[in-house]
Amino acid sequence: MISPTALVDKLKTQGTLSRSEFVCLIEGRTPEVAECLFEAAREVRHAVYGKDIFLRGLIEFTNYCRNDCLYCGIRKSNLDADRYRLSLDEILSCCRQGHELGFRTFVLQGGEDPHYTDDRMVGIVRAIRAGYPDCAITLSLGERSPESYERLYRAGAERYLLRHETRNEDHYAYLHPASMSLRERLDCLQNLRDIGYQVGCGFMVGSPGQTTECLVDDLLFIKEFKPHMVGIGPFIPHKDTPFAGHPAGTLELTVFLLGILRLLDPKLLLPATTALGTISPTGRELGVMAGANVIMPNLSPVGVRNKYLLYDNKICTGDEAAECRFCIQRRMVNIGYDIAVTRGDYAGHIGQARQAV
Ligand code: SAH
Repeated sequence: MISPTALVDKLKTQGTLSRSEFVCLIEGRTPEVAECLFEAAREVRHAVYGKDIFLRGLIEFTNYCRNDCLYCGIRKSNLDADRYRLSLDEILSCCRQGHELGFRTFVLQGGEDPHYTDDRMVGIVRAIRAGYPDCAITLSLGERSPESYERLYRAGAERYLLRHETRNEDHYAYLHPASMSLRERLDCLQNLRDIGYQVGCGFMVGSPGQTTECLVDDLLFIKEFKPHMVGIGPFIPHKDTPFAGHPAGTLELTVFLLGILRLLDPKLLLPATTALGTISPTGRELGVMAGANVIMPNLSPVGVRNKYLLYDNKICTGDEAAECRFCIQRRMVNIGYDIAVTRGDYAGHIGQARQAV
């Protein structure tokens, strides 16, 4: 049988593996195999993106949600969540501060909040587009109709993050209420991509019920769907959810999967997520060393930071945007990487702002 180290070489040269080979690589991993994987991942990453780290300023603009995902701290059944919404002015003031700090991408993320109708969202996107023509606007608002996605795209949003959460039907049903379906999720992703968005999917590592087979389903799906970005981070329990008693996903498996994803598509935008920084003080650095090239510091006003709690013990909830920005810079410089003051598009993709010139 082919060894896990040989599988790393094969993945690097061929860009994929068979189902059984992925299982063998994941289950046969050792610290030595991981080191070999990370070295290969860094090599291909440096060839495409050099040592640049792209920043995305995350604006968590509402924690109201109509959904009831079993893992998430802002699920509608959590009556202890202290709910808030940001006004257009508050959102624009986050952008103003972010722009001064060198952010050229703003990510508007929230629960699925019916208050933000298409008209309201279009107004917000237009205002950001008009005020910051040199910036990319990314949305992460969950599932909406194709017409809604289309209107938001025409208003000036050009990227959309919607994690598929798991590509395994049974696992999806285990993590979500019966009102949600994997089919619906995948249709949304396809619609977004057809409209022209740069699309990000992704999943949690170590979520309750996840098996190696589920992870391989995710990898094979990503290979086939070819998203521009893949967000992965460890599952971390939230005390007021049905999964409160489940153990968190591990740093070790999360970074291993980051390495695999980098080899699956060398051009992928791969964030070292806040959840990764939450389970380990050096999680984001280790994520970058494993092949990640994006970091999403928080730009939300300090007053609401400790309310957007998807999981327990989230980091940076008391820090000003500027503190987060410079903390990340220091951390990246310490491991030999640079912060890029650019939109940070998918390699080879010409952003809308530049096309318009
Ligand atoms: N409503 C938006 C944004 C969801 S929050 C949407 O549906 O896309 C962003 C991501 O946080 C989710 O996609 C999920 O993968 C992750 N998340 C939620 N709860 C989590 C938890 N307990 N631990 C780790 N990640 C979690």
